[in-house]
Amino acid sequence: MTRTAIPRLAIIGGGPAGLMAAEQAVDAGMAVDLYDAMGSVGRKFLLAGKGGLNLTHAEPFANFVGRYGERQGEIADWLRAFDADALRAWARTLGVETFVGSSGRVFPADLKAAPLLRRWVHRLREAGVVFHMHHRWLGWHGDGALRFATAAGERLVQAQAVVLALGGASWPQLGSDGAWVAPLRQAGIDIAPLQPANCGFELAWSEHLRRRFAGAPLKPVVAIWTDRHGGTQTRQGECVLSGYGIEGSLVYAIGADLREQIAAHGTTMLHLDLVPGYTQAVLADRLAAPRGKHSIGDWLRRRAGLDPARCALVFELTDGATLADPLALSARLKALPLQLRAPRPLAEAISTAGGVRLEALDDALMLRRRPGVFCAGEMLDWEAPTGGYLLTACFASGVLAGRGAVDWLKNLPGRQAGGDERRSP
Ligand SMILES: Cc1cc2nc3c(=O)[nH]c(=O)nc-3n(C[C@H](O)[C@H](O)[C@H](O)COP(=O)(O)OP(=O)(O)OC[C@H]3O[C@@H](n4cnc5c(N)ncnc54)[C@H](O)[C@@H]3O)c2cc1C
Repeated sequence: MTRTAIPRLAIIGGGPAGLMAAEQAVDAGMAVDLYDAMGSVGRKFLLAGKGGLNLTHAEPFANFVGRYGERQGEIADWLRAFDADALRAWARTLGVETFVGSSGRVFPADLKAAPLLRRWVHRLREAGVVFHMHHRWLGWHGDGALRFATAAGERLVQAQAVVLALGGASWPQLGSDGAWVAPLRQAGIDIAPLQPANCGFELAWSEHLRRRFAGAPLKPVVAIWTDRHGGTQTRQGECVLSGYGIEGSLVYAIGADLREQIAAHGTTMLHLDLVPGYTQAVLADRLAAPRGKHSIGDWLRRRAGLDPARCALVFELTDGATLADPLALSARLKALPLQLRAPRPLAEAISTAGGVRLEALDDALMLRRRPGVFCAGEMLDWEAPTGGYLLTACFASGVLAGRGAVDWLKNLPGRQAGGDERRSP
């Protein structure tokens, strides 16, 4: 076991939140050491760039903060420190221009994450941040030192302030595996159980539907579901049939309610309006016209505009008597019931719900029970749909935690005056 000289600030986790905290601190003149379990930083950020990096969203502030649901009060405070416009301006300082897509989502001009990350890490290194890769944080030693597993054995590091930015637990192969829960719980920190967010849900499809229609989009449809307070909600959007069930942006957006309902009742019903363009009365009229020699499938295509995937879904979930009755069939098309059995596993999810409860933190995101230790990013207990809201809150919390750590270090008793914190080159 080796012990290492004291860095002023240790940042653990080199995702968007940790890198942003590092930037705040090094810009304020602090010596910063950044540790990450992996061989390079920002692996999930790079993955996010594969499908077109959705950095943030251009909608008005009130709508934006509403996306954080029950945590919008706290996250509004983070976003007042660093909002979507600040994020776009920051990207510009790295030479990355952004644009607003037709849905209001904001992307880098080239849609990629890699150039932005490369320039950012370069800038941080130039500013003096020292990167320590292959350092897996294990918790605290009895004397308060940080314990890291490294290829050379366990290493102990004394730091005067720490920012933990360890991510959630989805896609663990990219570095964030949620193993931090155990040492934090041991330290008495209140942590909400980690759960999948922005994930698909499982249903028992027939082999026929799975084989023929896995991957088929359903757009547009209207979801009708029960929220966590027992109210009925509706929302239009797009989803995708998958081999295991159903996924896509509409399912992700309402996934927190679906997950809570399943946790409370074992399953939940999601109803889909497959024909949002028709009222049920008009649809019933159209289906009641003499069918002649047309099969029901053909009739649904001609009279209700159903594509083959929607047709297959209707046949999968509807009995013969309902199919033969235009009124009952029209009601079915306006609210096709899907019984959801479980969210997909956390490892597959886009993000993680649960984590360090915000009540365990002060306004600067410092752990109340562990002064000098700050937390940021997806490891905190909040969730949001896709649309750039995840990254924006990670960046904003990184800003707050980084600034909080700087203020903490500046106010430490015995600190020498002047810019004494910067590591000599
Ligand atoms: C497929 C996919 C697409 C996505 N697309 C988008 C998108 O377009 N827009 C959007 O807003 N969000 C998107 N996200 C979500 C977004 O990438 C995450 O919310 C964000 O990366 C979380 O940032 P973070 O810094 O909190 O954690 P991470 O990015 O997970 O970084 C945490 C870091 O901590 C390190 N670490 C973990 N445990 C330890 C340990 N014990 N010791 C040392 N280091 C450790 C990890 O190696 C990692 O580098 C996407 C996610 C996925 C999976």
